[in-house]
Amino acid sequence: MKTTSADATINTQPRAPEPAKTGTGTRVIDLGDSVTIGGLRVAIMAGPCAIETVDQLQAVADSVKKTGASILRGGVYKMRTAPQSFQGLGEKAFKMAADICRKTGLKFVTEAVDEQSLDLVDQHADMIQIGTRNMHNSALLKRAGKCKKPVLLKRGFSATIEEFLLAADYILQGGNTRVILCERGIRTFNTYSRYTLDLNLVPALRERTPLPVMVDVSHGTGKRTMVPPMALAAIACGADGVMMEVHHAPDEALSDGAQSLAIEDFETLVPRMRSVAEAIGRTL
Ligand code: PEP
Ligand code: MN
Repeated sequence: MKTTSADATINTQPRAPEPAKTGTGTRVIDLGDSVTIGGLRVAIMAGPCAIETVDQLQAVADSVKKTGASILRGGVYKMRTAPQSFQGLGEKAFKMAADICRKTGLKFVTEAVDEQSLDLVDQHADMIQIGTRNMHNSALLKRAGKCKKPVLLKRGFSATIEEFLLAADYILQGGNTRVILCERGIRTFNTYSRYTLDLNLVPALRERTPLPVMVDVSHGTGKRTMVPPMALAAIACGADGVMMEVHHAPDEALSDGAQSLAIEDFETLVPRMRSVAEAIGRTL
């Protein structure tokens, strides 16, 4: 295996683990306007699975802003398992997100599903998400290495830590050093939840790479009742950020309603997340 990444992401010898309370020892990724991922402050990325309407995005964005979170998520393009499922509004959703982010001061992350959408996301969003299904798409990863914006790389749902780190290396070696890794649940024999959230990966990655590590507690569980406890656990085990889906009317969501928090539940959860962050010497 080639292990010569400029960023030494792939080390065969684990580094000594960093105690969470002294900070993370991770690279700090700057999104501008004092919004960072990595370092002592735990980032929250929240928003709908898919952007559906201006009113929907505005309602969620107002809540994200009010709780003190800094990054709005929202799918412009959706990679759905079934072709008949809602595939996202496409390009027109960029303007909706841009208008709302300009008003609220939030940063925006959305997924690039192919090389064409990658260029558009690089142009219109503050951070590019590469989803679980594309973690093995080396052509897309290489092109993301040439993009200007930071990349949030999600773990393939059956990828090992080595495969995940090597996928990140494709981006790093292309010259884009602003990569954030995101655990989002893996396939196991468990059928109770949509995936099994592998929180072991957070300290494991900490031993292997200086890249910040996030946890997506919505796709990782698939159930809104499991989101709050896993969000607290993700912070407790050292995640640099937590991603979660929030919707103003989750039962009517066009995608992933079952795992989306209602706005009130999100607003109750964030102060609890803050308490856990403070308990381990971090802020939120
Ligand atoms: C998402 O976050 O919108 C998403 C589709 O996630 P994943 O690629 O992890 O399934
Ligand atoms: Mn989703």
